[in-house]
Amino acid sequence: MVKASNNTVLHVADVHKTFGGLHALADVDLAIEEGKTHAIIGPNGAGKSTLLNVIVGKLAPTRGTVVLDGEVLTGKSPHEINQMGVARVFQTPEIFPDLSVFDNVMAPAFAKRDGSFKINIFNSLQSEKDIAQEAEEIIVDFGLEPMINTHAGALSRGHKRRLELAMCLIQKPRILLLDEPTAGMSRHDTNTTIDLLKKIKSTGMTKIIIEHDMHVVFSLADKVSVLAQGRIIAEGSPDEIRANPKVKEAYLGESSE
Ligand code: ADP
Ligand code: MG
Repeated sequence: MVKASNNTVLHVADVHKTFGGLHALADVDLAIEEGKTHAIIGPNGAGKSTLLNVIVGKLAPTRGTVVLDGEVLTGKSPHEINQMGVARVFQTPEIFPDLSVFDNVMAPAFAKRDGSFKINIFNSLQSEKDIAQEAEEIIVDFGLEPMINTHAGALSRGHKRRLELAMCLIQKPRILLLDEPTAGMSRHDTNTTIDLLKKIKSTGMTKIIIEHDMHVVFSLADKVSVLAQGRIIAEGSPDEIRANPKVKEAYLGESSE
């Protein structure tokens, strides 16, 4: 079993998930380190989305636990897990189409203020003006400034994705989970997203990225875990993974895409 070290932010310990007779995840152990970008790759049906859903609390594991900074997440609701600092970017952007770009970025901030949250980022010391300034900075950083007053519903797909990332970042999550952040994007939009994610990386945020596109994985990841048929079959640096014959083999059966 992978032991959590002092640098471990998120520890997935001996996780299993079965659907009827199907072992979607088996013996999954992962230690996600502070400030690192950890990619989880694997062929279709490998269990990547299932693993993500177990981490965010959308699915209960059949066995095993997920621990964030020493606190067990398993058994908590997705909302509680989110409040504890686990933010997820969905495959389809979840934005408020009728609100402006600016109001979309501000929305998570106000949600945070309402109630007793563990990660109290927008605490009473931070005025609305400060939050607005922070929102503006993120919008500029993300190249969304020209659309700051545009209704989010009118944005291009690529810009919607960027907006969703901005909405996550303003929450200053402990860990950011990205589920195929470049799925369906053109090569140009993919490269822009890689640049943005590199920017986020330079802030020291810990990230898990689930990705099919090897170009994206090898541009961003510090460490790569390979899932195949629900099991981690290899783990290492991008270079080690690229050279691993087991990984090549796992991808060979994938000709239908
Ligand atoms: P990936 O994201 O790597 O493509 P998934 O995690 O979506 O893989 O799926 C892993 C396996 O679990 C697949 O065989 C899939 O059909 C099965 N599976 C996923 N979700 C469910 C579910 N809710 N009910 C039954 N089987 C599921
Ligand atoms: Mg999937």
